[in-house]
Amino acid sequence: MAVELPDYNPYDFANRRHIGPSPEEIDAMLETIGAASVDSLIDETLPPSIRQKEPLDWGEPMSERGVLDHLRATAARNKVMTSMIGQGYYGTVMPPVIQRTILENPAWYTAYTPYQPEISQGRLEALLNFQTMIADLTGLDIANASLLDEATAAAEAMAMAQRVSKSKSTAFFVDRNCHPQTISVIETRAAPLGLKVIVGDPFADLDAETVYGAIFQYPGTDGAVHDFSPLIERLHAAKAIAVMAADPLALALLKSPGEMGADIAIGSAQRFGVPMGYGGPHAAYMAVRDAWKRSMPGRLVGVTIDARGNKAYRLALQTREQHIRREKATSNICTAQVLLAVIASMYGVFHGPLGIKAIAARIHMKAARLAAGLQQLGFDVETETFFDTITVAVGDKQNVIVGAALGEKINLRRVGDDRIGISCDELTRPHVIESVWRAFGGSLKFDAVAAEPRFSEAMARTSPFMQHPVFHMNRAESEMTRYIRRLSDKDLALDRAMIPLGSCTMKLNATAEMLAISWPEFAEMHPFAPADQAEGYRFLIEDFSAKLCDITGYDAISMQPNSGAQGEYAGLMTIRAWHASRGEAERTVCLIPTSAHGTNPASAQMAGMVVVPVGTRENGDIDLDDFRAKAEKHRERLSCCMITYPSTHGVFEDTVEEVCRITHDNGGQVYLDGANLNAMVGLSRPGDIGADVSHLNLHKTFCIPHGGGGPGMGPIGVKAHLQPYLPGHPATDGRPGAVSAAPFGSASILPISWAYCLMMGGEGLTQATRIAILSANYIAARLSGAYDILYTSQQGRVAHECIVDTRPLSDSAGVSVEDVAKRLIDCGFHAPTMSWPVAGTLMIEPTESETKAEIDRFCAAMLAIRAEAQAIEDGQMHADNNPLKRAPHTIEDLVGDWDRPYGREEACFPPGAMRNAKYFAPVNRVDNVYGDRNLICSCPPMSEYLDVAE
Ligand SMILES: *Cc1c(COP(=O)(O)O)cnc(C)c1O
Repeated sequence: MAVELPDYNPYDFANRRHIGPSPEEIDAMLETIGAASVDSLIDETLPPSIRQKEPLDWGEPMSERGVLDHLRATAARNKVMTSMIGQGYYGTVMPPVIQRTILENPAWYTAYTPYQPEISQGRLEALLNFQTMIADLTGLDIANASLLDEATAAAEAMAMAQRVSKSKSTAFFVDRNCHPQTISVIETRAAPLGLKVIVGDPFADLDAETVYGAIFQYPGTDGAVHDFSPLIERLHAAKAIAVMAADPLALALLKSPGEMGADIAIGSAQRFGVPMGYGGPHAAYMAVRDAWKRSMPGRLVGVTIDARGNKAYRLALQTREQHIRREKATSNICTAQVLLAVIASMYGVFHGPLGIKAIAARIHMKAARLAAGLQQLGFDVETETFFDTITVAVGDKQNVIVGAALGEKINLRRVGDDRIGISCDELTRPHVIESVWRAFGGSLKFDAVAAEPRFSEAMARTSPFMQHPVFHMNRAESEMTRYIRRLSDKDLALDRAMIPLGSCTMKLNATAEMLAISWPEFAEMHPFAPADQAEGYRFLIEDFSAKLCDITGYDAISMQPNSGAQGEYAGLMTIRAWHASRGEAERTVCLIPTSAHGTNPASAQMAGMVVVPVGTRENGDIDLDDFRAKAEKHRERLSCCMITYPSTHGVFEDTVEEVCRITHDNGGQVYLDGANLNAMVGLSRPGDIGADVSHLNLHKTFCIPHGGGGPGMGPIGVKAHLQPYLPGHPATDGRPGAVSAAPFGSASILPISWAYCLMMGGEGLTQATRIAILSANYIAARLSGAYDILYTSQQGRVAHECIVDTRPLSDSAGVSVEDVAKRLIDCGFHAPTMSWPVAGTLMIEPTESETKAEIDRFCAAMLAIRAEAQAIEDGQMHADNNPLKRAPHTIEDLVGDWDRPYGREEACFPPGAMRNAKYFAPVNRVDNVYGDRNLICSCPPMSEYLDVAE
């Protein structure tokens, strides 16, 4: 008899990789919730009228090895040249220790935004290092962490300057020597705010009396280094605000913006170790004078104390965030670029101030030598004072020289039709300089060309920076590795436990999906490289866009927005331009349900719209009567509505088509916030329901990791009629309306989402949706009885998330939703979304990726917490001195005196906690009020640092 071998492909993980519950577990879950099958559950959950008619079908899903081969073949179609284009993007070396222990380490990249400070101390420290480094380099008092890209940071500065300026003017002056994409984004953002942009030569055209602020680029896009002090003095005399867009690496050698008197500095930290990635992601920064700190957009990490009085970090001044300010919000930043800010900060830690200065000096001397050589060859180097970039007048030889450089595998920048821009960077080697000389027709030897520094002593930096000990640790790699490890060990990310954050869709970021982002063919592409070098990217973007169109029912996709909130803004601006094209520019009213995510009203505000809130009914649905009444009342001026589907309450409202109809009948467009697309893929399409435009959070539904608060991607899908009004970009189609610095946003993380779609296939994606819904209903079933589950459909089902009401515990046991969230940390979990969309509740989204065992561990923790509250209610536990009130517990709680009415065992090892792999929060409960009263947003002084040194 023949031997029987297993008929099983061990590499065929197609759905099992991504979908947590095994077939047996799925059956058990169905039994618990009382559904006959997954399909019947879906039938009970989604209204029949919104179901998609045809299944998603792209043929067979790819295997893991298949997708990697496909990605390799696609990558090979990108031609990586030595890009000396500059214009805000530069070659840089990511130290290998950072690449392996941060960029490629799930402990860092799968973390969430640090809203729960007790489980985020590691990344908060890294971000504080970033803030300290930026504040030092710019010579300003306080820096945030972080913004989306340099161009949007410039636009944020324009808006902020107007808020803080005492000038009555509404005009903002923009140095024509800013990068073209910066000018374009500033123009996009100014128009709806009613701000006038004046682009000109600051030394010739700036009339300080007539503007509320001005931005200068330093060094300029042409490379020139100017002292802006006299202009800044004039601005200040006229009560106007001075903004400088500054390259932080150049600031290691050059006089800082702060020393020139600037009020605000912005820029990109890309060249601090983050590859160009065809445009992103990178962290942008903003630094301001102390007086303006409360007006600064973006996140700010601050120092505070915990319940034991120990030093702790947390996000400061959170009340400034769009979540709270809504239609009065000054910025819609939510997901930013945390992982990239962490990498840039570690580049600073790795090199220290001396290293940074040396890197800058080497780059400068290469540029100086390059310029000297070109002058020897008889060329007119127009830039006299520069850091790394020169502009050369070449007359009618531009084509010849650029072509010859291409032959040397070098990209130069075309400036107008008779000049060439050349930027040196950390990757520039002597032979590259020799190649450039050859392209200009000369054969010089690098060592034979002498050069002197090309800026004057007056412009040289004399002030110290990065003096904090963290930037002076021993440079041995073992120290660096351990520092990074120590920080990540303090944090709780997806690599330790499920993160059941409603609306945030913290699902698996599969390793195979992550691999390609480090490949040079994706990582080292300059965003403005000639199109024929980016064939691989073009193919990827087209194929992925087509798939997203299939998934959403839209006709076109713009990949430009680099976060969900940016997508909202881009979508609303598209609607705005469409109305204007029909002669209806007066349509500016935007209807938004009160339950909307905070970014919705904030984005509408930035798009120049008037937000009209619409009420929600008791069951969480949009109040249709109120909606209709407001739409009709504003029918002459209705621009659009912004709805979320399934709703922020986690329910598929069956009135959604009616909402779309009412909006269209009154002349408006429908913006459907696609953050909850994980509940729809394969089952229902926004474009079929009646929506005109949506953003898709690729960092939610499509597996890009959250990175501790970014990167993200928020492409928008639109119906055909809106396609002509999608954002343009100066580097591609030359049309206006750019919303990001790079034409395809954070392009280098697109392979992640693409690989996900390819490995799942249409059926796999649909199954993911079904199981996400199953898992949420399973949690609802397990917890109901102990807690009220708010907002279910008529059949008693929830969509992909459920809201658990913890408010009754506050009356019966004095236990707040925050107490529950912090106690979950003791159990080894990140809290669900807290107090949104309903104050005092928890919104739980397990996603399809969690196994039944992990979900059961979570449910055990939630049920144990309910039992503790019961014990308080019954008088068996002390009303104030109990494990809920005093959570989270730390290792400090296991040693020393203990005088509490509950035991240490009970404190530290509640159900859910793993005894031999216990996660301990490094700090006890963090005191937010203390930190906001005593605002410290850079690394604490050395004395304190030494106190806490491990
Ligand atoms: C996450 C989210 C957003 C914002 O997305 P970001 O990428 O964080 O800017 C908008 N709306 C909803 C409902 C969300 O959950």
